[in-house]
Amino acid sequence: MTLERNESIECPSCHQSQGMVLWDSLNVTVTPSGKKELLEGRLNVFHCEKCGHQEAVDIPFVYHDMDLKFWISYFPVDSLKDYDFYLLFEGNGQQKLPAAQSEIIDILGEGSAYMNMQHIVFDMDEVLRYVIFREVLAHQQSGAAARHPFLDP
Ligand SMILES: [Zn+2]
Repeated sequence: MTLERNESIECPSCHQSQGMVLWDSLNVTVTPSGKKELLEGRLNVFHCEKCGHQEAVDIPFVYHDMDLKFWISYFPVDSLKDYDFYLLFEGNGQQKLPAAQSEIIDILGEGSAYMNMQHIVFDMDEVLRYVIFREVLAHQQSGAAARHPFLDP
């Protein structure tokens, strides 16, 4: 599921307010356009139209690729100091799934078992690196003749 919302953000530098789109989650299979923003480092990054100040809006973010079957959950690093944050997880480090999601896995069966294996990260750059890792890996294992463009920039 892709969840994006419009928020009014006040510039931390010049205090001018402006609207921007915040992404809580991005399903790249459904919303490929969001991936470009992520790869260009613009996703959830505030850019002030008045003074040019640029700053990440540090909110949790989920990246989900249904084709390659992986998902990444990003949490702001300050979450690590929050007692309640740890209540979201099972003992094996996986996030407790909402009941609805558990049911989907039951219905879809084996192919959706990956939804029980999130890659949890505390750095947005790590989201990018893991996406590249999985995409190059999938490309190489697909038996494609040409090398993935990332290997030959
Ligand atoms: Zn500003």
